[in-house]
Amino acid sequence: MRRAVVVVLDGMRRDLISDESTPALARFAARAQSFAAHRSMFPSATRVVSASFATGCTPARHELQGNSLALMENGRLVYHDAGHPEFLQHKRRVTGRSLAVPTMAERLGPHGGMILFSNVSPGAAYAHDPDGHGHVYHRAGSFGPGRKRIEGAGALKIAQDAAGERAMTVRFVEEVLFDRRPALALLWMGEPDASQHVMPLGSPQHLAVLRQADANFARVVEAVDRLRDKGDDVLLIACSDHGHQTVSRVVDIEAELIAAGLKDSRESGDVVTPTSGTSTLVYIHPDHAAKTDDIGAFLSSRDWVDRVVPAAELASVGQAPHQSLAFAISLKSDDEPNAFGVRGHSYESRPAPGKTTHEGCGQHGGLARYEQMPFLMIDGAGFAAGGVSIAPTSPIDIAPTILAHLEVPAEGMDGRGLRT
Ligand SMILES: [Zn+2]
Repeated sequence: MRRAVVVVLDGMRRDLISDESTPALARFAARAQSFAAHRSMFPSATRVVSASFATGCTPARHELQGNSLALMENGRLVYHDAGHPEFLQHKRRVTGRSLAVPTMAERLGPHGGMILFSNVSPGAAYAHDPDGHGHVYHRAGSFGPGRKRIEGAGALKIAQDAAGERAMTVRFVEEVLFDRRPALALLWMGEPDASQHVMPLGSPQHLAVLRQADANFARVVEAVDRLRDKGDDVLLIACSDHGHQTVSRVVDIEAELIAAGLKDSRESGDVVTPTSGTSTLVYIHPDHAAKTDDIGAFLSSRDWVDRVVPAAELASVGQAPHQSLAFAISLKSDDEPNAFGVRGHSYESRPAPGKTTHEGCGQHGGLARYEQMPFLMIDGAGFAAGGVSIAPTSPIDIAPTILAHLEVPAEGMDGRGLRT
Protein backbone atom coordinates (compact mmCIF):
# COMPACT_ATOMS: atom_id res chain seq x y z
CA MET A 1 0.00 0.00 0.00
CA ARG A 2 1.30 3.46 -0.96
CA ARG A 3 1.13 5.91 1.95
CA ALA A 4 2.55 9.26 2.99
CA VAL A 5 3.49 10.13 6.55
CA VAL A 6 4.47 13.72 7.40
CA VAL A 7 5.89 15.02 10.68
CA VAL A 8 6.13 18.79 11.13
CA LEU A 9 8.25 20.22 13.95
CA ASP A 10 6.76 23.70 13.98
CA GLY A 11 9.37 26.47 13.91
CA MET A 12 12.42 24.16 13.80
CA ARG A 13 15.39 26.00 12.29
CA ARG A 14 17.46 24.01 9.82
CA ASP A 15 20.74 25.27 11.31
CA LEU A 16 19.77 24.07 14.80
CA ILE A 17 19.61 20.39 13.80
CA SER A 18 22.57 18.67 15.50
CA ASP A 19 23.74 15.34 16.93
CA GLU A 20 23.43 16.78 20.45
CA SER A 21 20.02 18.54 20.34
CA THR A 22 18.15 16.59 17.69
CA PRO A 23 19.89 13.20 17.31
CA ALA A 24 16.97 11.52 15.52
CA LEU A 25 16.74 14.27 12.90
CA ALA A 26 20.51 14.22 12.47
CA ARG A 27 20.42 10.43 11.95
CA PHE A 28 17.46 10.78 9.59
CA ALA A 29 19.56 12.97 7.27
CA ALA A 30 21.66 9.87 6.46
CA ARG A 31 18.68 7.97 5.04
CA ALA A 32 16.66 10.87 3.62
CA GLN A 33 17.23 13.46 0.93
CA SER A 34 17.74 16.91 2.48
CA PHE A 35 16.73 20.19 0.85
CA ALA A 36 19.40 22.71 1.76
CA ALA A 37 17.72 25.73 0.16
CA HIS A 38 14.23 25.12 1.56
CA ARG A 39 12.36 28.34 2.36
CA SER A 40 9.11 29.29 4.07
CA MET A 41 6.25 31.36 2.59
CA PHE A 42 5.68 35.09 3.16
CA PRO A 43 4.52 35.79 5.77
CA SER A 44 6.63 32.98 7.27
CA ALA A 45 3.82 32.11 9.66
CA THR A 46 2.08 28.86 10.53
CA ARG A 47 -1.44 29.64 9.27
CA VAL A 48 -0.12 30.87 5.93
CA VAL A 49 2.24 27.91 5.54
CA SER A 50 -0.48 25.45 6.59
CA ALA A 51 -2.72 26.69 3.77
CA SER A 52 0.20 26.51 1.30
CA PHE A 53 1.12 23.03 2.53
CA ALA A 54 -2.48 21.86 2.15
CA THR A 55 -3.08 23.37 -1.30
CA GLY A 56 0.35 23.45 -2.96
CA CYS A 57 -0.34 27.12 -3.71
CA THR A 58 0.97 30.53 -2.65
CA PRO A 59 -1.14 32.93 -0.55
CA ALA A 60 -1.95 34.79 -3.78
CA ARG A 61 -3.94 31.70 -4.79
CA HIS A 62 -5.29 30.26 -1.50
CA GLU A 63 -6.09 33.73 -0.02
CA LEU A 64 -5.00 33.08 3.59
CA GLN A 65 -2.80 36.18 3.42
CA GLY A 66 -1.38 36.36 6.95
CA ASN A 67 -1.58 35.02 10.50
CA SER A 68 -3.84 38.02 10.90
CA LEU A 69 -5.39 39.81 7.94
CA ALA A 70 -8.28 41.98 6.77
CA LEU A 71 -11.45 41.17 4.83
CA MET A 72 -13.64 43.68 3.01
CA GLU A 73 -17.06 43.26 4.60
CA ASN A 74 -20.04 45.45 3.62
CA GLY A 75 -17.70 48.14 2.39
CA ARG A 76 -15.48 48.08 5.51
CA LEU A 77 -12.00 46.65 6.07
CA VAL A 78 -12.33 44.30 9.05
CA TYR A 79 -9.35 42.93 11.01
CA HIS A 80 -9.28 39.15 11.66
CA ASP A 81 -7.07 36.77 13.63
CA ALA A 82 -6.72 33.78 11.30
CA GLY A 83 -5.85 31.59 14.31
CA HIS A 84 -9.46 31.78 15.49
CA PRO A 85 -11.25 28.44 15.09
CA GLU A 86 -14.10 30.02 13.11
CA PHE A 87 -12.03 32.26 10.82
CA LEU A 88 -12.22 30.20 7.61
CA GLN A 89 -15.92 29.44 8.18
CA HIS A 90 -16.46 33.20 8.49
CA LYS A 91 -14.36 33.85 5.38
CA ARG A 92 -16.52 31.42 3.41
CA ARG A 93 -19.64 33.36 4.42
CA VAL A 94 -18.02 36.69 3.46
CA THR A 95 -16.17 35.78 0.25
CA GLY A 96 -17.96 32.60 -0.87
CA ARG A 97 -14.99 30.33 -0.17
CA SER A 98 -12.79 29.31 2.76
CA LEU A 99 -9.55 28.67 0.89
CA ALA A 100 -9.78 29.55 -2.82
CA VAL A 101 -8.15 26.33 -4.07
CA PRO A 102 -8.64 22.65 -3.14
CA THR A 103 -6.76 21.05 -0.24
CA MET A 104 -5.03 17.67 -0.16
CA ALA A 105 -7.83 16.53 2.16
CA GLU A 106 -10.32 17.23 -0.63
CA ARG A 107 -8.19 15.66 -3.37
CA LEU A 108 -7.55 12.56 -1.24
CA GLY A 109 -11.16 12.17 -0.11
CA PRO A 110 -11.84 9.41 -2.68
CA HIS A 111 -8.24 8.12 -2.54
CA GLY A 112 -7.61 6.90 1.01
CA GLY A 113 -8.17 10.13 2.90
CA MET A 114 -6.18 12.47 5.16
CA ILE A 115 -5.92 12.45 8.94
CA LEU A 116 -4.25 15.38 10.73
CA PHE A 117 -3.24 15.56 14.40
CA SER A 118 -2.24 19.15 15.22
CA ASN A 119 -1.13 21.03 18.33
CA VAL A 120 -0.79 24.57 16.91
CA SER A 121 -3.46 27.31 16.68
CA PRO A 122 -6.98 26.14 15.75
CA GLY A 123 -6.99 28.32 12.63
CA ALA A 124 -3.76 26.74 11.38
CA ALA A 125 -5.06 23.22 12.01
CA TYR A 126 -8.38 23.84 10.25
CA ALA A 127 -6.62 25.45 7.24
CA HIS A 128 -5.72 21.89 6.20
CA ASP A 129 -9.36 20.99 5.67
CA PRO A 130 -11.79 23.90 6.16
CA ASP A 131 -14.56 22.26 4.12
CA GLY A 132 -14.60 18.90 5.91
CA HIS A 133 -13.25 16.25 3.54
CA GLY A 134 -10.89 14.41 5.90
CA HIS A 135 -10.25 14.17 9.64
CA VAL A 136 -8.70 16.98 11.67
CA TYR A 137 -7.86 16.47 15.35
CA HIS A 138 -7.18 19.53 17.51
CA ARG A 139 -7.63 20.43 21.17
CA ALA A 140 -10.17 23.14 20.16
CA GLY A 141 -12.36 20.57 18.41
CA SER A 142 -11.94 17.54 16.16
CA PHE A 143 -13.88 17.04 12.94
CA GLY A 144 -14.60 14.23 10.48
CA PRO A 145 -15.99 14.36 6.93
CA GLY A 146 -18.79 16.91 6.56
CA ARG A 147 -17.19 18.78 9.49
CA LYS A 148 -19.06 16.44 11.81
CA ARG A 149 -17.71 17.09 15.28
CA ILE A 150 -15.96 14.16 16.95
CA GLU A 151 -17.02 13.90 20.59
CA GLY A 152 -15.87 12.02 23.69
CA ALA A 153 -12.78 9.84 23.77
CA GLY A 154 -12.36 10.19 19.99
CA ALA A 155 -11.57 13.92 20.31
CA LEU A 156 -8.00 15.11 20.96
CA LYS A 157 -7.92 16.46 24.51
CA ILE A 158 -4.29 17.45 25.08
CA ALA A 159 -2.43 20.43 26.48
CA GLN A 160 0.08 22.60 24.62
CA ASP A 161 2.97 21.16 26.62
CA ALA A 162 5.52 18.35 26.49
CA ALA A 163 3.08 15.78 27.90
CA GLY A 164 0.44 16.80 25.35
CA GLU A 165 2.86 16.55 22.43
CA ARG A 166 3.98 13.10 23.58
CA ALA A 167 0.41 11.87 24.08
CA MET A 168 -0.56 13.15 20.64
CA THR A 169 2.41 11.38 19.03
CA VAL A 170 1.75 8.06 20.77
CA ARG A 171 -1.90 8.12 19.74
CA PHE A 172 -0.98 9.14 16.18
CA VAL A 173 1.35 6.15 15.86
CA GLU A 174 -1.02 3.55 17.28
CA GLU A 175 -4.33 4.79 15.95
CA VAL A 176 -3.52 6.57 12.70
CA LEU A 177 -0.43 4.79 11.39
CA PHE A 178 -1.29 1.23 12.42
CA ASP A 179 -5.09 1.03 12.76
CA ARG A 180 -6.74 3.56 10.44
CA ARG A 181 -4.04 3.71 7.76
CA PRO A 182 -5.08 6.80 5.70
CA ALA A 183 -3.28 7.66 2.45
CA LEU A 184 -1.91 10.79 4.19
CA ALA A 185 -1.14 10.81 7.91
CA LEU A 186 0.03 14.23 9.13
CA LEU A 187 1.41 15.00 12.60
CA TRP A 188 1.92 18.76 13.14
CA MET A 189 3.63 19.30 16.48
CA GLY A 190 3.42 22.65 18.27
CA GLU A 191 7.04 22.38 19.40
CA PRO A 192 9.62 23.76 19.26
CA ASP A 193 7.68 26.84 18.05
CA ALA A 194 5.56 27.39 21.16
CA SER A 195 8.57 27.32 23.49
CA GLN A 196 10.79 29.34 21.17
CA HIS A 197 8.34 32.25 21.48
CA VAL A 198 8.89 32.42 25.25
CA MET A 199 12.54 31.44 25.77
CA PRO A 200 15.88 32.56 24.27
CA LEU A 201 16.97 30.54 21.25
CA GLY A 202 19.90 28.29 22.14
CA SER A 203 19.30 28.52 25.90
CA PRO A 204 19.50 25.29 27.93
CA GLN A 205 15.72 25.17 28.35
CA HIS A 206 15.27 25.66 24.60
CA LEU A 207 17.70 22.84 23.78
CA ALA A 208 15.72 20.57 26.14
CA VAL A 209 12.56 21.35 24.13
CA LEU A 210 14.37 20.45 20.90
CA ARG A 211 15.31 17.07 22.41
CA GLN A 212 11.69 16.39 23.41
CA ALA A 213 10.39 17.23 19.93
CA ASP A 214 13.12 15.11 18.39
CA ALA A 215 12.14 12.15 20.59
CA ASN A 216 8.58 12.39 19.27
CA PHE A 217 9.92 12.40 15.72
CA ALA A 218 11.94 9.26 16.57
CA ARG A 219 8.70 7.50 17.62
CA VAL A 220 7.24 8.08 14.17
CA VAL A 221 10.40 6.92 12.36
CA GLU A 222 10.40 3.70 14.35
CA ALA A 223 6.73 3.13 13.46
CA VAL A 224 7.34 3.78 9.76
CA ASP A 225 10.15 1.22 9.79
CA ARG A 226 7.67 -1.35 11.11
CA LEU A 227 5.10 -0.38 8.45
CA ARG A 228 7.71 -0.86 5.75
CA ASP A 229 8.66 -4.23 7.21
CA LYS A 230 5.01 -5.19 6.74
CA GLY A 231 5.16 -4.16 3.07
CA ASP A 232 3.80 -0.59 3.02
CA ASP A 233 5.42 1.77 0.49
CA VAL A 234 5.77 4.78 2.79
CA LEU A 235 6.93 8.24 1.78
CA LEU A 236 8.18 9.78 5.06
CA ILE A 237 8.56 13.57 5.11
CA ALA A 238 10.01 15.50 8.05
CA CYS A 239 9.90 19.29 7.86
CA SER A 240 9.19 22.57 9.56
CA ASP A 241 7.09 25.49 8.38
CA HIS A 242 9.42 28.41 9.18
CA GLY A 243 12.39 29.24 11.41
CA HIS A 244 12.76 31.92 14.07
CA GLN A 245 14.65 35.17 14.67
CA THR A 246 15.44 36.69 18.08
CA VAL A 247 13.31 39.78 18.73
CA SER A 248 15.47 42.87 19.31
CA ARG A 249 12.80 45.61 19.26
CA VAL A 250 9.02 46.02 19.05
CA VAL A 251 7.61 48.54 16.56
CA ASP A 252 4.10 50.02 16.84
CA ILE A 253 3.46 50.55 13.13
CA GLU A 254 -0.14 51.61 13.64
CA ALA A 255 0.89 54.32 16.12
CA GLU A 256 3.57 55.60 13.74
CA LEU A 257 1.06 55.86 10.88
CA ILE A 258 -1.37 57.75 13.15
CA ALA A 259 1.39 60.10 14.36
CA ALA A 260 2.36 60.80 10.74
CA GLY A 261 -1.24 61.68 9.87
CA LEU A 262 -1.60 58.69 7.55
CA LYS A 263 -4.22 56.80 9.60
CA ASP A 264 -7.05 58.44 11.51
CA SER A 265 -7.10 56.39 14.72
CA ARG A 266 -6.56 52.91 16.17
CA GLU A 267 -10.17 52.06 15.34
CA SER A 268 -10.37 53.69 11.88
CA GLY A 269 -10.92 51.55 8.79
CA ASP A 270 -8.99 53.76 6.34
CA VAL A 271 -5.73 51.85 6.86
CA VAL A 272 -5.60 48.43 8.60
CA THR A 273 -2.25 46.83 9.57
CA PRO A 274 -2.61 43.21 10.74
CA THR A 275 0.68 41.69 11.86
CA SER A 276 2.32 38.30 11.44
CA GLY A 277 5.17 38.69 13.95
CA THR A 278 8.12 40.15 12.07
CA SER A 279 5.99 41.16 9.09
CA THR A 280 2.91 43.31 8.61
CA LEU A 281 0.27 43.64 5.90
CA VAL A 282 -1.00 47.14 5.12
CA TYR A 283 -4.52 47.36 3.69
CA ILE A 284 -5.79 50.71 2.39
CA HIS A 285 -9.52 51.18 1.91
CA PRO A 286 -10.35 52.17 -1.71
CA ASP A 287 -11.98 55.39 -0.45
CA HIS A 288 -8.53 56.38 0.89
CA ALA A 289 -6.42 55.16 -2.05
CA ALA A 290 -5.11 58.72 -2.50
CA LYS A 291 -2.94 58.11 0.61
CA THR A 292 -1.16 55.15 -0.97
CA ASP A 293 1.91 56.96 -2.32
CA ASP A 294 2.44 58.88 0.92
CA ILE A 295 2.12 55.71 2.99
CA GLY A 296 4.59 53.91 0.70
CA ALA A 297 7.10 56.74 0.97
CA PHE A 298 6.69 56.88 4.76
CA LEU A 299 7.13 53.13 5.23
CA SER A 300 10.19 53.01 2.96
CA SER A 301 11.83 55.82 4.93
CA ARG A 302 11.62 54.05 8.31
CA ASP A 303 14.68 52.52 9.99
CA TRP A 304 12.56 49.54 11.09
CA VAL A 305 11.98 47.97 7.67
CA ASP A 306 14.08 45.61 5.58
CA ARG A 307 11.66 45.56 2.68
CA VAL A 308 8.39 47.26 1.69
CA VAL A 309 6.61 45.36 -1.09
CA PRO A 310 4.04 47.52 -2.96
CA ALA A 311 0.88 46.11 -4.53
CA ALA A 312 2.42 45.92 -8.01
CA GLU A 313 5.24 43.69 -6.68
CA LEU A 314 3.26 41.42 -4.33
CA ALA A 315 3.47 38.54 -6.84
CA SER A 316 7.25 38.45 -6.25
CA VAL A 317 6.59 37.25 -2.66
CA GLY A 318 3.63 34.99 -3.52
CA GLN A 319 1.00 37.54 -2.54
CA ALA A 320 -1.70 39.47 -4.41
CA PRO A 321 -3.62 42.70 -3.73
CA HIS A 322 -6.75 40.85 -2.57
CA GLN A 323 -9.01 42.70 -0.12
CA SER A 324 -7.23 46.02 -0.89
CA LEU A 325 -3.84 44.80 0.33
CA ALA A 326 -1.53 47.70 -0.58
CA PHE A 327 1.85 46.84 1.00
CA ALA A 328 3.59 43.93 2.74
CA ILE A 329 6.44 44.77 5.10
CA SER A 330 9.30 42.59 6.32
CA LEU A 331 10.79 44.19 9.41
CA LYS A 332 14.46 45.03 10.06
CA SER A 333 16.80 42.12 10.69
CA ASP A 334 20.49 41.43 11.31
CA ASP A 335 22.82 38.43 11.35
CA GLU A 336 24.28 38.93 14.85
CA PRO A 337 24.38 36.12 17.44
CA ASN A 338 22.28 36.27 20.62
CA ALA A 339 23.67 35.49 24.09
CA PHE A 340 23.68 31.77 23.26
CA GLY A 341 25.38 32.15 19.89
CA VAL A 342 22.24 31.68 17.79
CA ARG A 343 22.33 34.12 14.88
CA GLY A 344 19.67 36.48 13.55
CA HIS A 345 17.58 39.23 15.14
CA SER A 346 14.45 40.92 13.83
CA TYR A 347 12.11 43.68 14.89
CA GLU A 348 8.63 42.54 15.80
CA SER A 349 5.40 44.37 14.95
CA ARG A 350 3.36 45.30 17.99
CA PRO A 351 0.62 42.65 18.02
CA ALA A 352 -3.10 43.18 18.53
CA PRO A 353 -4.18 44.30 22.03
CA GLY A 354 -4.09 41.45 24.55
CA LYS A 355 -1.32 39.58 22.72
CA THR A 356 2.18 39.44 24.12
CA THR A 357 5.47 40.64 22.60
CA HIS A 358 8.63 38.51 22.54
CA GLU A 359 11.73 40.66 23.24
CA GLY A 360 14.80 38.43 23.59
CA CYS A 361 12.88 35.32 22.49
CA GLY A 362 11.89 33.89 19.12
CA GLN A 363 9.52 35.27 16.48
CA HIS A 364 8.98 34.90 12.74
CA GLY A 365 6.78 36.11 9.88
CA GLY A 366 9.17 38.00 7.61
CA LEU A 367 11.75 37.41 4.92
CA ALA A 368 14.86 37.42 7.14
CA ARG A 369 17.47 34.70 6.81
CA TYR A 370 16.71 32.41 9.75
CA GLU A 371 12.91 32.67 9.79
CA GLN A 372 13.21 31.61 6.13
CA MET A 373 15.29 28.58 7.13
CA PRO A 374 12.88 25.69 7.82
CA PHE A 375 14.11 22.16 7.16
CA LEU A 376 12.85 19.51 4.74
CA MET A 377 13.95 15.87 4.57
CA ILE A 378 12.24 13.17 2.48
CA ASP A 379 12.79 9.43 2.84
CA GLY A 380 11.22 7.07 0.30
CA ALA A 381 11.15 5.88 -3.30
CA GLY A 382 12.71 8.41 -5.64
CA PHE A 383 14.73 10.22 -2.97
CA ALA A 384 18.48 9.77 -2.50
CA ALA A 385 19.50 8.52 0.96
CA GLY A 386 21.99 11.01 2.38
CA GLY A 387 21.61 13.25 -0.68
CA VAL A 388 21.47 17.02 -0.45
CA SER A 389 19.50 19.07 -2.97
CA ILE A 390 20.40 22.74 -3.38
CA ALA A 391 17.50 23.60 -5.68
CA PRO A 392 15.12 26.16 -4.14
CA THR A 393 12.06 24.54 -2.54
CA SER A 394 9.20 25.75 -0.36
CA PRO A 395 6.05 24.39 1.34
CA ILE A 396 4.08 24.56 -1.94
CA ASP A 397 6.22 21.70 -3.27
CA ILE A 398 5.19 19.24 -0.57
CA ALA A 399 1.58 18.56 -1.68
CA PRO A 400 2.55 17.71 -5.29
CA THR A 401 5.32 15.48 -3.93
CA ILE A 402 2.87 13.61 -1.70
CA LEU A 403 0.24 13.27 -4.43
CA ALA A 404 2.86 11.97 -6.91
CA HIS A 405 3.77 9.22 -4.44
CA LEU A 406 0.09 8.38 -3.97
CA GLU A 407 -0.50 8.46 -7.76
CA VAL A 408 -3.22 11.09 -7.38
CA PRO A 409 -3.37 14.03 -9.87
CA ALA A 410 -2.01 17.34 -8.58
CA GLU A 411 -3.05 19.69 -11.37
CA GLY A 412 -3.51 23.37 -10.64
CA MET A 413 -0.83 23.67 -7.94
CA ASP A 414 1.91 26.32 -7.90
CA GLY A 415 4.49 23.90 -6.49
CA ARG A 416 6.26 21.03 -8.20
CA GLY A 417 6.85 17.43 -7.17
CA LEU A 418 10.35 16.91 -5.76
CA ARG A 419 10.91 13.26 -6.68
CA THR A 420 13.79 12.98 -9.12
ZN1 LIG B 1 4.82 27.63 12.77
